Amino acid sequence: TGKVVGFIGLGNMGIPMTTRLVAAGYQVRGFDSSPAAMANFTAIAPTESGGAAVPVDSLGSAGEGADAVIVMLPDSDIVERVILGRLASEPPSAPGGLLATLPPGTTLIDMSSSDPARTKILARLTAQTGVTLIDAPVSGGVAGAKAGTLAVMVGGSAESFERFKPMLSAIGKRVVHAGDVGAGHAVKALNNLMSAANLLISCEALTAGQRFGLDPAVMLEIINGSSGRSANTENKWPNYILTGTYDDGFALRLMVKDIKLALAIEHATGVPATASEAVATAWESALADLPPGADHTAIARWLSTRPEQ
Ligand code: NAD
Repeated sequence: TGKVVGFIGLGNMGIPMTTRLVAAGYQVRGFDSSPAAMANFTAIAPTESGGAAVPVDSLGSAGEGADAVIVMLPDSDIVERVILGRLASEPPSAPGGLLATLPPGTTLIDMSSSDPARTKILARLTAQTGVTLIDAPVSGGVAGAKAGTLAVMVGGSAESFERFKPMLSAIGKRVVHAGDVGAGHAVKALNNLMSAANLLISCEALTAGQRFGLDPAVMLEIINGSSGRSANTENKWPNYILTGTYDDGFALRLMVKDIKLALAIEHATGVPATASEAVATAWESALADLPPGADHTAIARWLSTRPEQ
């Protein structure tokens, strides 16, 4: 594959991910509907390896000369509107969106945490014009994106996986073929459900421990050497919760989206989901109570300030 790639969605994750691609020598043609995001992208310096951030002024020119266009957008509604110019569930209109501008043979790589069922449908639609869609969502947060250590879970053919593995390796350390298209999005949603469940439990347990008289830092030192440890106790608690900053860079509303996607997979597959349903209820209450832009780590503040029961 060539060294030109389109990239749509230059937000919290898109900026560090495109920075990694530029560092690896890619010419990244970036587009975002937000002027502030475009300014952040334009500020990425070119590299000696030939990498450069090339801002483009329309969706339509992002794919020029590129084998692949990556999208890193909030959710499936926005992914469909960007790619098709409409929701996939709406009747076809005049050609619009990114897809109409891409020559056959181009690959679309959806690195957002999208709905796996909708990803499968979208892949069938793009295939009608000779464009292959694969999913390659990530885990590891903004810090992992900056360090290039993300986990990348790829859904698509083995051929597509092999073809884009080198490029995805510029973004992530562990690039795994999850299965057919949609498989990456499915495992991503299920992973985040587990992460959300664990963060919620850690908030309940650490708040209880604190009220019992324990120092949270001491509790974390003990738990991180014990069986209750997780990415939340090892990373999010010390870096974003005990600091009082709540600025991990992953919005609470996006976490709630992922929990709902995972719950839909559990319901569709007939899994008894009592714990997942309780997790979803708590996170949805936090979303309703906290300010709109709240970071997902603010669930700790929300939990500890709820009325006692
Ligand atoms: P974000 O909201 O920071 O960035 C999304 C970007 O998309 C914004 O810059 C926005 O302006 C742009 N955008 C929205 N609509 C657009 C449109 N129609 N055309 C062009 N650009 C448009 O979100 P994020 O935190 O970067 O997350 C992106 C995706 O990655 C989400 O699906 C999220 O769940 C997932 N994710 C996030 C993290 C994290 O730690 N932040 C980690 C893993 C996965």
